[in-house]
Amino acid sequence: MSMEAPQEQRFRPPVTADCPLFSQRLEEHLIAVSRGEAPAKGRFCGNCYHPVARETDRCPHCNNHFVEDRATVDVVPDEITEILRRQRKTESTIVNSFAFLGVLIAVIGGLGVVLGIPYLRDNLLPATIVYAVILLIGVRGLAGFLGGYYGDRIGYERARRATVASWKDFEAIRDAA
Ligand SMILES: [Zn+2]
Repeated sequence: MSMEAPQEQRFRPPVTADCPLFSQRLEEHLIAVSRGEAPAKGRFCGNCYHPVARETDRCPHCNNHFVEDRATVDVVPDEITEILRRQRKTESTIVNSFAFLGVLIAVIGGLGVVLGIPYLRDNLLPATIVYAVILLIGVRGLAGFLGGYYGDRIGYERARRATVASWKDFEAIRDAA
């Protein structure tokens, strides 16, 4: 492995299948800025907006060269912040919807179990206890499973599609300017 290895890689625009649009550090930066925990100004790759050190001339995230390709910028464009905000909102909305569905299934399913067993139907106290146990286990389990697994995956995919489309639109406008 020579030191020149990264230089041989070709410059790649952020919108490609294998490249996450928001680098981990860019996402962390934008969240910190939105919370007022970090200054908006810094040094960012002019192609993918990954935060970069002062002495580097090549982006470690997208391989953009700051002299030959796109120069660095001081602030991440508002459009990029907005794309990330929408992505996170879509993800959390879908995760929450699936978690809520899990709660609903536990509530209704538990009721179905209790009403479906004749002994429980006629004895309020045991029925209440059984229902409480079903809720306790079912709500956490189903909400966690549906929200954390399906919601997370579906939310990510849907949000990702929207993000790629928005980022392409943004790039088209940026490159035309
Ligand atoms: Zn970059």
